[in-house]
Amino acid sequence: MYAQTPGADRSPVILHVPHSSRTLTPAARGSVLLDDTALSRELDHMTDAHTDLIAGRAADAAAVTPWTHRNALSRLVVDPERFPDEREEMRAVGMGAVYTRTSHGERLRSDDPVHERELLAAHFVPYADAFTRLVDARLAATGRAVIIDVHSYPSRALPYELHAAGARPAVCLGTDEHHTPPWLLEAARRAFTDCAELGLNTPFAGCYVPLKHYAHTTEVSALMIEIRRDLYMTEPGGAPTDGLAAVARALTALVDAVTGQAARPTP
Ligand SMILES: [Zn+2]
Repeated sequence: MYAQTPGADRSPVILHVPHSSRTLTPAARGSVLLDDTALSRELDHMTDAHTDLIAGRAADAAAVTPWTHRNALSRLVVDPERFPDEREEMRAVGMGAVYTRTSHGERLRSDDPVHERELLAAHFVPYADAFTRLVDARLAATGRAVIIDVHSYPSRALPYELHAAGARPAVCLGTDEHHTPPWLLEAARRAFTDCAELGLNTPFAGCYVPLKHYAHTTEVSALMIEIRRDLYMTEPGGAPTDGLAAVARALTALVDAVTGQAARPTP
């Protein structure tokens, strides 16, 4: 299940919020082995809390309203950002598209290929299809699409992280070799520089691009923003702090800068 909030016809920008929800479907809850207390704690660690609020504030404040695509379900149902098959490196720690391990390496679900296929068919595939249609619509309307992934990550590494030894800057920018042009990275650097120290692809790397366009539609640009949670909330799983306003302002500045790129010659 996903929710899309329309933006302006002339906006190429899509704010993508995949990990902000704590909601599980009854079927997904039924396959999770944790009791309610342990599940709540796991959601505290794994949910990118309030990133929907940050994206919403930026969308409202932007000069030209961007489009928003939000996952209305928890990443513990399916994680739309993971490959649903053997390509996914996180499968090694039980965190492919359907998680079987918790952030601390405990059992989250039994290995059940039938249930996994059901979850993928019910949630992963429709999500990816809807996102692809949204990208196609921006391409048709504006000639390009700019995907900005809005995530957050804990200030202290969780045991599941594969690259936990990497630096944990206040804001981590995730790039892709095919889809992150220099002007987009530069725009993000400028927009966030006042609110935070920046890092590139550490401790998380990459950004979300629909497979249909991956590595061949040059008009699709993408960048991931990973905000360290102590900047804007009480960890783990707590309320937003006053820091959220500055983060939302920085994201607004990025959306405005990227939207303004339309008039600019292609580098
Ligand atoms: Zn995330």
